Amino acid sequence: MQDFSRFIREIPDFPKPGILFKDITPLLGNPTAFHRVVDEFSLRYKHEAIDVIAGIDARGFIFASALAYRLGAAFVPIRKKGKLPYHTHEATYDLEYGHDTVVIHRDAFPKHSKVLICDDLLATGGTLAASVELIEKLEGHIVGIALLIELTELNGREKIPNHDIFSLIKY
Ligand code: AMP
Repeated sequence: MQDFSRFIREIPDFPKPGILFKDITPLLGNPTAFHRVVDEFSLRYKHEAIDVIAGIDARGFIFASALAYRLGAAFVPIRKKGKLPYHTHEATYDLEYGHDTVVIHRDAFPKHSKVLICDDLLATGGTLAASVELIEKLEGHIVGIALLIELTELNGREKIPNHDIFSLIKY
């Protein structure tokens, strides 16, 4: 597999002091690299008969929608609270200071749909664990979780022990 890490730019102290932000815009701005990332995900999941790609607000949408198009699947957004217009389910998770909430439309997909969750980056795993909770509330069958980047030192996987996690770049 290609080393995609050379397309990730590291920005210290963004958006807050102490955070080393992984900026994916150089990768998105390189047509070959972007294409290859979507190809890698597609290769991994094309035989899984996936019905729905659930993308997480906001950078998860970029890969999820391209992959949904490629796999002939539906795209479903998991958004920050207050951003979806219809009836929603919500799941709250802890941040370093305070908490955050993600939501999904109650009619996002039919029960027992085969769902792949997609995001740009796994850090502490709070966002993904809440997203898993939302898919399970709708009785979706989670086939896997596809990520561009995983920050392994933060042990985010431990919050999602029962699902298959696939990441293209590990730090
Ligand atoms: P977490 O819930 O801690 O796993 O955080 C995951 C979400 O926060 C992802 O949707 C990322 O987009 C964002 N995120 C967390 N840490 C970083 C980082 N160091 N660089 C870029 N994005 C990050």
